Amino acid sequence: MGAVPSRLSWRVATVRAVQPETQRVLSLVLDVPGWDGHQPGQHIDVRLTAADGYQAQRSYSISSAPEDPAITITVERLDDGEVSPYLADVLRPGDGLELRGPIGGWFTWTTQDGGPLLLVAGGSGLAPLMAMLRHRAARRSTVPVRLLYSSRGFDDIIYRAELDRLVSHDPDLAVVHTLTRSQPPGWTGYARRIDGAMLAAVAWAPEARPLAMVCGPTPMVEAVADALVALGHDPGRIRTERFGPTGG
Ligand SMILES: Cc1cc2nc3c(=O)[nH]c(=O)nc-3n(C[C@H](O)[C@H](O)[C@H](O)COP(=O)(O)OP(=O)(O)OC[C@H]3O[C@@H](n4cnc5c(N)ncnc54)[C@H](O)[C@@H]3O)c2cc1C
Repeated sequence: MGAVPSRLSWRVATVRAVQPETQRVLSLVLDVPGWDGHQPGQHIDVRLTAADGYQAQRSYSISSAPEDPAITITVERLDDGEVSPYLADVLRPGDGLELRGPIGGWFTWTTQDGGPLLLVAGGSGLAPLMAMLRHRAARRSTVPVRLLYSSRGFDDIIYRAELDRLVSHDPDLAVVHTLTRSQPPGWTGYARRIDGAMLAAVAWAPEARPLAMVCGPTPMVEAVADALVALGHDPGRIRTERFGPTGG
């Protein structure tokens, strides 16, 4: 019998499908041989190797639920980036992709962790939180969840149709959008970056002790975590995942 692949050993997945999400974001559905599941919130490392042996490695959150047999990552293309343009523009169904994982244990949530659950995302930071929402839906959980999601514009909202569908038949799920750069005509929702006043309006009171999961560009994550603490939320109930160095 061969050795069981560890989650930290590299293996080659096969791209099953490439799904456009927005103009700059797409999802890659991957078949990973020997994959034995993940927790919502975990990520994988992806490694690219050039012909001359040069390697580049980046992390991507798993956006699919553990209940889904394939794993999905959702990638935002940064035009000047090294890895994301390759994932977004070059990979096709049937191609191989080297990865390892699942990785991460702190930024995870399953229905057993209960709630109420406050999800706060910026841009592609929705990916690991989507794994939590998909897992919760697959389990028909009634844990109360509120998602506050910041996007640049209406057409930049990732999984917009799926979020609408989830909300439409789930009284325990609320989704609040804020659009920071452009708003469609007639938009009545928030139109600024997430701040303390917005969090006070959307989040539960600190006394309800919501578990907060915050993910997105580093400055946004830090601003949200600071604002939640300033509102009186227990720092021990705030979990964060920082995606990158800039504010996007
Ligand atoms: C735990 C974890 C999970 C992640 N999950 C995802 C995910 O699900 N989806 C996803 O799209 N990305 C995710 N990221 C970010 C991802 O790992 C890469 O950093 C990102 O794809 C950029 O890589 P690149 O090689 O294309 O750009 P690089 O060549 O590394 O950088 C190009 C330029 O973009 C800037 N930059 C780098 N990263 C970011 C960023 N995140 N936001 C804004 N500007 C940036 C750099 O400063 C530089 O100017 C995750 C990061 C971490 C740490």
